[in-house]
Amino acid sequence: MHSRKRILVTGGAGFLGSHLCERLLNEGQDVLCVDNFFTGTKDNLIHLLANPHFEVMRHDVTFPLYVEVDEIYNLACPASPIHYQYDPVQTTKTSVHGAINMLGLAKRVQAKILQASTSEVYGDPEIHPQPESYWGRVNPIGIRSCYDEGKRCAETLFFDYHRQHQLRIKVARIFNTYGPRMHPNDGRVVSNFILQALRNEPITVFGDGTQTRSFCYVDDLIEGFIRLMNTENEFIGPINLGNPGEFTILELAEKIVEMTESKSTIDLRPLPSDDPRQRKPDITLAGEKLKWKPEINLEKGLTKTIKYFADLQKK
Ligand code: NAD
Ligand code: UDP
Ligand code: UDP
Repeated sequence: MHSRKRILVTGGAGFLGSHLCERLLNEGQDVLCVDNFFTGTKDNLIHLLANPHFEVMRHDVTFPLYVEVDEIYNLACPASPIHYQYDPVQTTKTSVHGAINMLGLAKRVQAKILQASTSEVYGDPEIHPQPESYWGRVNPIGIRSCYDEGKRCAETLFFDYHRQHQLRIKVARIFNTYGPRMHPNDGRVVSNFILQALRNEPITVFGDGTQTRSFCYVDDLIEGFIRLMNTENEFIGPINLGNPGEFTILELAEKIVEMTESKSTIDLRPLPSDDPRQRKPDITLAGEKLKWKPEINLEKGLTKTIKYFADLQKK
């Protein structure tokens, strides 16, 4: 008989978390979503609430949490610059105290625990594309530091709990991911551009638009999460998860304008400080260890995401 695993997803009401909860429920697991609803919403979970194997708990991970689970996916943390810079001290607390509490929990119940880390640990990189062995170039005192350094410290805590307490850990470094249920007002480039294009408003390109990013569709990323969680105990990461297709921000803007048949024009705005010049994952390790690579290209992923935002606007 299939025995259900009890799985905790912190940040489960957010963009990635809600897709992960859905996927785990579809696989027949018991899912506990813990979220303080800072950037996440119940709307992201509404279609799951009737499932008796799903439970939502309002809780801030900077406080201790006592529950009994077999696996933990630790996603709680605002992810977009606008949101993580709104209360930067709370952002660092969420990454650091949140990691300590979830690791303490994992230690007590002997759960396996996965950390949603980020390509931001590489900062503004001087190695391109970025392999996991690269230590990064991060400003410790800038406006992005609460997020970057918080996530770096969380990785340190994961590795020390592993070395000191033999915890089963998995650290994923996520590169820019997009898709339905992205927060419409969180200022991330894909959601911003799609909404601006749908409204025929100017597309706000920061800087000259020659900086690059690689965009991974959410379903591909979730597949990577699940595969990583299921690797043998010896494999702990860190491991890059992202789509190596690299585009300039200007290319992204033009593609979205074309796909939405928008009348929007490009509007160049000042570049925020510490904005990385380029970013692209080296996913060789994920290919070897997870037999994983993204299947959904930018055009296909954008089509689904544009449809989501177009429907949202009609509501
Ligand atoms: P999101 O903002 O949609 O989701 C984060 C969730 O965490 C939200 O539901 C929010 O309410 C919740 N949260 C924030 N602080 C909390 C706290 N103290 N206690 C409990 N819940 C809290 O962002 P997302 O894009 O879904 O990101 C999920 C995770 O993945 C984050 O840890 C983020 O750093 C990481 N990540 C995302 C991307 C990306 O491109 N989407 C890239 C790299 C890393
Ligand atoms: N913790 C928690 N849930 C648990 C067990 C621990 O939230 O089920 C918290 C606990 O409050 C502590 C943190 O996790 O602050 C780290 O726990 P650990 O056992 O590593 O450290 P200690 O309790 O010795 O400080
Ligand atoms: N960006 C932009 N216009 C916007 C929002 C973002 O040109 O309206 C740029 C931003 O400066 C950065 C890139 O798009 O170079 C990705 O930004 P995002 O905030 O989505 O992610 P991150 O910088 O964390 O990779």
